[in-house]
Amino acid sequence: MRFAAAGALFAGFMLTTAAAAAEPAGPARGGPPHNLVIFVADGLRSHIVTPETAPEMARIRAEGVDFQNSHSLYPTVTTVNASAIATGHRIGDTGDFGNTLWIGAAVSPASPSRFAGLEDDPTLGGMNARFGGNYLHEISLLAAARAHGFATAVIGKAGPAAVQDVTARNGETLIIDDFTGYPEGLPLAADVKAAITAAGFDPHAEDRGLNGSAGDYIMSGIHVANVQQQDWFVGVTTKVVLPRLKASGKPFVLVFWSRDPDGTQHGNGDSFNTLSPGINGPTSLAAIRNADDDLHRIREALKALGLADATDIVVTADHGFSTVSRASTTSTANRRKYLDVKPGSLPPGFLAIDLAAALKLPLRDAVGLPIDLKGGFHPRGEAAMLGSAQHPSVLIADNGGSSLLYLPGPGAKALAAKVVAAMIKQDYVAAVFVDDALGPLPGALSTRAIGLIGAAATPRPQIVVSYKSFVMPDCVRTDPELCAVEVSESAYTEGQGIHGSFSRANTHNFMAAIGPDFKSGFADPAPVSNADWAPTLAKILAIPMPANGKLTGRVMSEALPGGATPAFSAAVVRSTKAAGGFETVLDTQTVGEEVYLDAAGMPGRVVGLRP
Ligand SMILES: [Zn+2]
Repeated sequence: MRFAAAGALFAGFMLTTAAAAAEPAGPARGGPPHNLVIFVADGLRSHIVTPETAPEMARIRAEGVDFQNSHSLYPTVTTVNASAIATGHRIGDTGDFGNTLWIGAAVSPASPSRFAGLEDDPTLGGMNARFGGNYLHEISLLAAARAHGFATAVIGKAGPAAVQDVTARNGETLIIDDFTGYPEGLPLAADVKAAITAAGFDPHAEDRGLNGSAGDYIMSGIHVANVQQQDWFVGVTTKVVLPRLKASGKPFVLVFWSRDPDGTQHGNGDSFNTLSPGINGPTSLAAIRNADDDLHRIREALKALGLADATDIVVTADHGFSTVSRASTTSTANRRKYLDVKPGSLPPGFLAIDLAAALKLPLRDAVGLPIDLKGGFHPRGEAAMLGSAQHPSVLIADNGGSSLLYLPGPGAKALAAKVVAAMIKQDYVAAVFVDDALGPLPGALSTRAIGLIGAAATPRPQIVVSYKSFVMPDCVRTDPELCAVEVSESAYTEGQGIHGSFSRANTHNFMAAIGPDFKSGFADPAPVSNADWAPTLAKILAIPMPANGKLTGRVMSEALPGGATPAFSAAVVRSTKAAGGFETVLDTQTVGEEVYLDAAGMPGRVVGLRP
């Protein structure tokens, strides 16, 4: 990623400089290429992993490479990071700006909405159809590996699984997810289906069972981890997929995307309408252990098949996590009564409700129908629009701890100034970023400063807002990252889980690696991110990765045998101050020209912002 913080004041200071300059590790050694397993534990916080909570991951981190200074890409949601893991590019290039995007056209066969929810196989197909056959506009590691003779397979959570090789929709890569076996799913070859049946599994993917119902404010959420569904995924992986990959005689790349702990932390019922224990309760810990058990079973299968010594294993998380708060003292959205929201709580769509009031614009849902606030309704489905149904003025795509705003009409510049001025009066707003064409604006940084402007094919959000986070007052843990609470746009209730914000609790994902191409027992102090995996893994596997955009990650050569730890430094980017004192402060680290984003927002409203 190479981008400048245009329109911002640099208050740079050097924090750390490690020993030697980075030098590239040697080229891939001779002999047949090794195999690669990428295990993604969705929503796994870096610091929650210990020998007690997640023994397999703790072992890999201790015996292999421990990426201590790891980063999820912002917005800290799943498909953003799935696109980075897949391609090695930041989202300014992949155009995957959130799980929910405004596209300007209907892309899902199931909905007339011009918003797209990307955690869905048919919608990903619609995205490709709209954006030149590959909405990511970059080649994925798996597609490059396929082209170089590797066998490839992806198993796990619908959405991020298919994003790993998004152009392979006809079996070029074996993709097994929640939709497998059902009409909406990607096709499964007859011999694979037969092998799944022969191994004793139903060829229809297992559902989440009791893990799938997140409850609401009058009915507590989940009390079981996603074991039922993931037992099916890991069973098919170990009993069918890995033996077939071995039998292919080719080197292989396998991605396993574990929905746990994400889904369970989101909907946990341990902390019903109260902040504590939040996502540190027994059900969330069971979900972390479930993901860990799955990784253990995959490693055991690799050993049993005689593949362990020739296989590199990468473990990463798409993002961190926080406990949900639904409190605000400035919003008027939580002073209304809703049919399905606890009185006094922020409803889903609170930003749209507050902006509609401030801008005196009609409030509409994702397809343009008016929302009857007086009747107790609020926006749903992570999207809302303000203005006319045909030509809306503001489109809002909600992504948990952040929202993306699009201003497609004439007069966008004047409107953007009003939108930002209204937003920064709210106590739930922590950070604001504005596209260069509409800024600079007081209190906001440029979206260029966070890597959103690149070669993307999809429409760029013009305003991005990150919501407030804070440390839980009576947290049982002492680590602020493990005690973070955040305000968010979602249907989850107080005490459940969410992510998406620019807190360090959300950017600090778990990352570790082990295997013949990685150092042993090495703790990496240098900043790394999910965009660094693909360049590093492509180097290990000796696969070229041609690029359209320039927002690429770096080869983490310090993690490879013979590689030196690069020099790195920290800096702070500050916006101008708005009337009233609001400012957006962005903490970064750099390695050469690579920029890593730690946290951003108004001081006092962001967990992990440096003092
Ligand atoms: Zn999530």
